[in-house]
Order: sequence, then C-alpha cells, then structure tokens
Amino acid sequence: MARLSLSLFAFLVVCLLASPGWSQQPPPEAILFNGKVFTSDLAHLYVEALAIRGDRIVATGTSEKISALAGPQTKRIDLGGRVVIPGINDAHYHLMIHSTVFMLPLKGMDPTWPEVTSELASALATAQRGTFIVGETGGAVLEDPRATRATLDQLAPDHPVMLATWTQHSAILNTAAIKMLGIKENEPDPKGGWFGRSADGKLTGLAMEFARFRLHRRMSEMASEEEALQQTRDFLNEAVRFGITSVQNMSEPASPEMYVHLLEKTQTPIRVRIMRYLLTDKNGPIDEGRDLPRNPSTLITVSGTKWMLDGTPIERTAAMRQPYSDRPSTTGYLDFPEKDVEAMLRKSLHDDDQVMFHAVGDRAAETLLNAMDATGGVAVWARRRVRIEHGDGLVPELAARAKTLGVVVVVNPTHITLGDLIRKRYGTARAEQFFPFRSLLDLGIPFALGSDGPMNPYLNIMLASTYPGKPREAITREQAVIAYTLTSAYAEFAEMDKGSLEPGKLADLAVLSQDIFHIPAEDLPKTESVLTMVGGKIVYDAKVVNSR
Ligand SMILES: [Zn+2]
Repeated sequence: MARLSLSLFAFLVVCLLASPGWSQQPPPEAILFNGKVFTSDLAHLYVEALAIRGDRIVATGTSEKISALAGPQTKRIDLGGRVVIPGINDAHYHLMIHSTVFMLPLKGMDPTWPEVTSELASALATAQRGTFIVGETGGAVLEDPRATRATLDQLAPDHPVMLATWTQHSAILNTAAIKMLGIKENEPDPKGGWFGRSADGKLTGLAMEFARFRLHRRMSEMASEEEALQQTRDFLNEAVRFGITSVQNMSEPASPEMYVHLLEKTQTPIRVRIMRYLLTDKNGPIDEGRDLPRNPSTLITVSGTKWMLDGTPIERTAAMRQPYSDRPSTTGYLDFPEKDVEAMLRKSLHDDDQVMFHAVGDRAAETLLNAMDATGGVAVWARRRVRIEHGDGLVPELAARAKTLGVVVVVNPTHITLGDLIRKRYGTARAEQFFPFRSLLDLGIPFALGSDGPMNPYLNIMLASTYPGKPREAITREQAVIAYTLTSAYAEFAEMDKGSLEPGKLADLAVLSQDIFHIPAEDLPKTESVLTMVGGKIVYDAKVVNSR
C-alpha cells in the first residue's frame, strides 16, 4: 500500500512537471492568430488563434494569449479575420483509377437511348479501332429494351463499349467489351450479383451489383502506372485545395494494395484511410488486403471492411420492404441473405476490424440490424461503431434501433438532389421518410459526411444545410462542419487525434477563402482553402495569408 502511494506520488510529480508552467516548454513552431477559428469542439466553438508545435496543436485562445507564446523562431500566420476549420474528413470516397477511355459526352445524369446512340455514332467516327468507349447513364438507358449487347454489337462491332450507370452498380457491354474485361461466355454469377442471360444462356451484356463491381476493378487494373499515378495526383491536388486533410477511401475500384502503392509513390500529403472492399466469385468473398500493415506510412491507414448489402434506387436494386411505386413487381435486391450478413459481422469481431455496410433500402437496413441483434445485439455492438453508408432507408423505427446498437451513419448530401426520381421510385409517403439528416442528428446518432461523388465539401455543406425539397431535414452549417470533421473522425475511431482544433490534437486545418458560416448558401460551393495544413505542415498555400 505504502509503495503504491509512493509511486502514485512520483507519478503526480512527473505529471505536474510535464504540464506547462512547471517546465520550460520551447515556443511553438507556428501560431495562427487574428482569425475566426471554428474548432468543432462544442465547449469552445470559436477561438481567435492557435499554436502548433510538431504535428500538434498546443494551445488555443485569444490572439493576445497565443501571440504571447511565440518566440523569435515562431512562424506567425496572420489570418486577417479569415475562417479556419478543422481539415475536412471525407468519410466516404472512391478514388477512380482507370485506363484512358473515350467518354461519351452525354448531357445530364439520365440520357435517353437515342442520345446515347447519336453520341456513340460520332465517337465511332473519330475513335481509333479498339478504343474503349464508355457512356455514363442513368435508369432510362438501363431499362430501354434496345440497349443490349446485340444492338451495341451492330452499332460498334470493332470497339469495346460499356454503358454504365453513374452509380457504378450496373452496366451493359457489347461483345468486344465483354472480351476485353475478361468475362467468359459461361462465366458463373458471383455471389451478390448477376450477369443478364438470354433463354439459351448467352450473356445479354448486362452486369449487376457484384458482377458489375468486378468489371470496375478490371478497368483499374488496365490503367498504366502513369495513368494511375496521374489520377492519384489530381485527386490529392484537388483535396488540398478544398482543405480536405483526411479521406476514407473504399478500395473500389482499385485494390487496397494498388491504392497503398499509388499513395506511397505520390507521397500523399493528406491522411488517407483505405477500407477493404471485397469482391466475390461464385463461392463468396475473395479476401484481400490482409497482408498490408495497418499503417504503411504515417499518413496511410488500412483498416475496416466495407460490404454492399443492396443496390440503388436508380436500378431499383435498393432492397425495400414494400414494392417500388413505379414497378410494383419488385422490392429490389438484397446482395446477401441475413445469414451472410451475420458472417460478415462475426468476421469483423474475429478480426477486431471495423465493418461498414452500404445499406440504401429499408430492407437492407433492417437486415443488417436483425443480423446485429442475432450476433449479440447491444452488448456486443454498442461500442464497435458499425457503419451504415448512405442509410437512405433509416426510417424512424429503424433509426431508433440503429441508435441503440451504436451504429454510425455516413450520408452523402449530393444524393438528396435525386428528389424527383426518389418520389417516383418510392412514392411520396416513403420519400418523405427516406434520406433523413436532421432526424438522425436529433436522435443522437453519430452522423458523418462523405462525398461519394463530387468532392467539393462546401457543395455538400450547402446541400446538407438547405436540403432542397425537404428543408425540415436540413442541418445547420455548423452541424455540417462538425459532421464532416469530428464525427467523420469518430467514424474511423480517430476522434482522439483529429477532427477538432483543440490542444493535443493534430494540426490538420484549412484557412478558408470566405466565411462559410455567413455567406449566402448559393455561394458556398465556390469556397476554397487558401492554406491547408496536415500535422502542422503546410500542404497547400494560395499565398494570400500573411506570414512571417
Ligand atoms: Zn460509395
């Protein structure tokens, strides 16, 4: 007992000596002052200034207090009244890696078949024989009976052609594309997906869900090293200009190994988390990325596994509890039965690895929640931060269950712009309840933001804080920034290290070109970072902030 007290005493002395005021700390390496620093920390939402030593923030407060800490060597960054936010953490992203293809210049997100064939004809007139032609379409082409392998073969016998929905969940290919992407005529369906087949068993050219995802992977493998590196560099340059300092990237289309390689080669200036995203063959999931270290370098983390549980409303493959309003013969498609979802959950427990599920329809969300109950319920899952990606179908009753199970929800504001199509597919009553934002926050569900598309965080903040078509689900801009920073960090178990601007946390931040909390909403998408820091290091500088 006496010895314990003695060591406790010694420990306290060490603590006191280590705290500022008792020992001589060197001055900070940099201070940022004279700003409106939004911290994402509810206890002190705004400060004027902060000090950085090494890769961490060591103090925050008034400009006066922080300036007093500076020494002769300290870099002084005068913010000139600008807004600073914690670096954006895009919690759901897909870095696209692909070989150079001829993209059909289609207008809008849902071109018609005649529009596609007309653009295809012009492309064929100019594109060299063998050039891979890709058209990004919506639901209209997918369900046009003329859009088949046979028709595409007639139109383009010498060019591989793929018409793919922009959701990446379905595609129609001609014979040349089928060959190029290595699909055999007797290719078995992978688990969780299927190839369209005619009565005689011949491939119709349609690839859905996991049959489609593997084609996306093949296209990333066809990219040359130089193409892949350039696409990675473009992504990283865009990220730092937006003040994005962390990205959680699904290993889709490329493999986790390829992403790690590309990020190492380009010396990523931002933090990138790679989440495994397993493809399947006819027997089930093909494991990958397990040999990668958790931290191949300081800025790269490999962790977590993402699963697709269903499709999207565009293809009517989001798994619904009630039939689609505009096609009552279907309730969508659940990629895996509940037993398989239980196995995915058990695997995440066994590997002590976070697991996240793309669940769009309410049946997909319900299946996951049932599987969580069947594998231990609250006692097992409350602290494991199982993630639902998108979560469109988290209607109040399912959202309440998700909250109890400690589920983290990552939503993508650009998806709410599909309002009209959603009303068509789901009917008005369901559309009213689907895509909850504010109601999830009000329930106390950890609510993070990811782009899953256009990366511009300020476009996403505008959409989340105005919620076109359903303003009662809008959240405030402050809530949106917290969701994009602190809660996104929570969604990757990193909130102790980043996500808010507080002493002890990593100095990941962005000085913004305009005051995102006060400008008119429609101006938000024009916002850029003028200075981005990752771990106290300037990774982007538009040279408009004075420093000395
Ligand atoms: Zn996604």
